[in-house]
Amino acid sequence: MATEDEATAPICRICFLGADEDGDESLGELVSPCNCQGSQSYVHLGCLRRWQRSVQLSGSNHPDETAKEDRHLVCNVCKAEFNLPPQDRTSMMSDLSGMRPEQMGPGMLIVTKKADSDAVSASVQLNLALRAFIESKAAHFHRAVYILTEVRPREGSATSSSSRNGNDVIIGVNLSRPLEVPDVSQLHGAEDERAIQSYRDQGVEVMWMNGGPVKPRTVTCLACVKHINAERREALFAKHGVKQFFEGPIAVVHGPMRSMLACAAEEAKAAAAVCEEKIVVLAWAGFAQWSCTQLLGEIARGSWGWCCGTGHDVAHAIAAQRPPPADAQGSDIWDGLRYSERLQWAPENELSREFESRFPSRSEVASEREQDPQAEAVGHLVRQFEAIRRGRDPLLRMEQPRGTHESDRPAGARTGAAAVGSSRLRGCVPH
Ligand SMILES: [Zn+2]
Ligand SMILES: [Zn+2]
Repeated sequence: MATEDEATAPICRICFLGADEDGDESLGELVSPCNCQGSQSYVHLGCLRRWQRSVQLSGSNHPDETAKEDRHLVCNVCKAEFNLPPQDRTSMMSDLSGMRPEQMGPGMLIVTKKADSDAVSASVQLNLALRAFIESKAAHFHRAVYILTEVRPREGSATSSSSRNGNDVIIGVNLSRPLEVPDVSQLHGAEDERAIQSYRDQGVEVMWMNGGPVKPRTVTCLACVKHINAERREALFAKHGVKQFFEGPIAVVHGPMRSMLACAAEEAKAAAAVCEEKIVVLAWAGFAQWSCTQLLGEIARGSWGWCCGTGHDVAHAIAAQRPPPADAQGSDIWDGLRYSERLQWAPENELSREFESRFPSRSEVASEREQDPQAEAVGHLVRQFEAIRRGRDPLLRMEQPRGTHESDRPAGARTGAAAVGSSRLRGCVPH
C-alpha cells in the first residue's frame, strides 16, 4: 500500500500547485527550504521569494523593529532557518530607492517631499498640549533640508573603512530650521558666552539651528569659507582639525565649535579686506540619525529626494535665516530645492505606492490649516518645548529617542577620532 507521500505529487504549501501545473514560469522550481516533512515540505522558489519580500516590505522601517522580524528567515512551523535566505534588506532598499549605499555621505542633502507632516492632520482634534507634543516631533521633518555630516560604523560593529554597511550610522542636521538662542551652559561642545562674544567682536556671528530630534544638547558646527585663498585653506583646516565637505569657491567645513570659530575668525580677517560681511558659523543643537538601511528605506518610500550639496546651498541656508530675508522673495532653502531638477527621487515602487496610499497628499487640507485657530498657540508651545529639551527645566529630560546607541558624553569627546587632519570626505558620489 502506498503511503500518502508516495501517492501524492509534491505541491507548493503556499499556492497548492505542483511543479508543472503553474503555467506561470515565475513560480520556479519546487524547493524544500526548511526541515518540514511530507506535504508541508515543498514550496515554489518564486512563492517563497514573494513571501519573504512581502514580510520585508511590510511593517516598520525602524532598525530595532526590522531586527525583530524573522518570518522571512525562519519557518514558522518547524522553526528552522530557511536554507534560501532572502535578499538582505540593505540591497533591497538600495534597489528600490535607486541609490547605492556608498553614495550616502557627508555633504549630501536630503529634502522632504511634503511641506506638512502626516502626524499633524491626525492630531487636529486633539487637545492643545498633546497636539503640540506631536507637532514638536513632526516639525523636524516639515519643509526640511538635512545635510549629512557624518557616517560612522555602528558602535560595536567591526570598522569597515571602505564599504558601507547597512548598520552604519548616518548623521545629518537640518539646514532649514532656526532655533532661539539656547543657554550654552547646558549644551555639550558649545563655547561659553564670553568666547562667543569675543568672536562676535572679530566679526563672527553664531547662528543657532535646530539640528534634529536626537540629543538636543549636542552641538555641531559648519561654516563657509570663501575669502581665504585656496592655497591657505588646507593648512588652516589641518591646524584646526576641521573637515572639508566641498571644495570650490565656497568651501564648507565641519568640526567642533571651538575650531569652527577659530577658522571663521581667520575668514573674517580675510573678508574685512574686501567687504563688511559678517561671517556666520552655523551651530546646531541636536541632530538626526538613521541607519544606512533605514534612510535608504525612507528614500525608497518617497519621503526624501536627494542631491549633492554645494557651498552655495549652505550660503543660501544662512542668508534665508537672516532677518530680513536677504532673498527678496523670502524663499527658504526648502522652497529652492523641493522642485529643483537637481533632486533625485526613488523611482515609483511597491513601497512608495503602499506609502502613498496610506498617507495621500493632502492639498485641500493645507488650505484648511491656514485658518487653524490653534496654529499660533501650538507654535508657541512647540518653541517652549524645544527650549525645555535644551535644559531650561531639569525635570523634563524625557528625550532619548530609540535607535540612539551613543552614550551621553560631550560632542568634543565624540569628534576626537574624526578630527584627524583635514581629510576631504568624498561621500557624495555622483552617478
Ligand atoms: Zn507556489
Ligand atoms: Zn519548516
